[in-house]
Amino acid sequence: KNLARPASRALGVYNAGLSADAVQQKYGVARIAKLASNENPLGASPKVIAALEADARFSAIYPDASSAVLRAALAEETGVSAENIVAGNGSEDILHMLALAFLNPGDRVVTLIPSFGLHEIFPRMMGADVTLVGVSAQQQFDIEAWEQALSTPAKMVIFSNPSNPVGCMLGREGFARIIDAAPQDCVLVIDEAYFEYCENEPDYPDSLRVLAEQSRPWIVLRTFSKAYGLAGLRIGYGLASHPELVNLLDRVRTPFNINRSAQTAAVAALQDKQHVRDSIALVTAQREKMAAELTDLGFTVAPSHANFLFFDCGQPSAELAQRLLTYGVIIKPWRETGYENWIRVSVGNEQDNRQFMQSLKYILAEEA
Ligand code: PMP
Repeated sequence: KNLARPASRALGVYNAGLSADAVQQKYGVARIAKLASNENPLGASPKVIAALEADARFSAIYPDASSAVLRAALAEETGVSAENIVAGNGSEDILHMLALAFLNPGDRVVTLIPSFGLHEIFPRMMGADVTLVGVSAQQQFDIEAWEQALSTPAKMVIFSNPSNPVGCMLGREGFARIIDAAPQDCVLVIDEAYFEYCENEPDYPDSLRVLAEQSRPWIVLRTFSKAYGLAGLRIGYGLASHPELVNLLDRVRTPFNINRSAQTAAVAALQDKQHVRDSIALVTAQREKMAAELTDLGFTVAPSHANFLFFDCGQPSAELAQRLLTYGVIIKPWRETGYENWIRVSVGNEQDNRQFMQSLKYILAEEA
């Protein structure tokens, strides 16, 4: 007898990709370029490492279940009051809480495709119906398609901006149009995991200011996994419309969801903004260089506002990804219909990027 909930049984397992250790063990390559998970090539700030070392002696003690020090630091950083801030074991934990707190079987969720898998998987876990809105032929947000999709009732709207894996950015006007089009009684979830890479671009919407005028519940998600370089510690946060929304998420989350190292590290990371600026400067310079090289090789590269590039590699990307592994290069092939030839590659440091480009060229030469 299958005792599982049908909605759980029907789920796919999220493809979290391979670790550097796993690839090293299997292929015996000397150097691994892990460019599959949009991590920070500079790693964590030295201030974070010092704080973690100092905190290690308290490992026997449970962390603060309310992440109070961290939420106060985030309040200072964002200008949002601490009672409107929720912390998560990665921002994916907050996506999970939102699904648990809001979604009933049959509720309609509108999200983007191609997109971060969990925007679709967690709603489906609850038995929700998911409407997927595609991107335009130019790999941009298709505002008209969004307006169309939002013209019928929906319980939740989720998208990332800039969007993973495409890298496209929804500008001010498009953001306002999508928010206006969303049904009045729905929850707006704006996933800004890659916020730091484009917050200074003139057309990047000030989502907090726009959303502050909304009467519906909303939440903006951000993370320490990308520009702050703390992916291994698992810490993200949400800036919410109301303290009641944070309180609701507090009811469904696991009590000690943020371990003490993660809390300590995140507070220290907020004190080293220079490290974040250095990371962004490195990545955006390397991204433009890599995009130009891929374009020169004849590939179609989607314009990116984040720390990765999405491009059409002209052949089944799963096979190319497999061959790149033999060179120690880990990237993420896309599988969805229409994107079977697309690859997402994170922008790493110069050495990683060179290893990726050279391996790609070797493979293309072998094929020629
Ligand atoms: N949202 C988006 C759009 C992402 O790309 C990612 C990471 N791939 C996440 C959320 C989750 O990040 P984390 O759980 O590490 O904060």
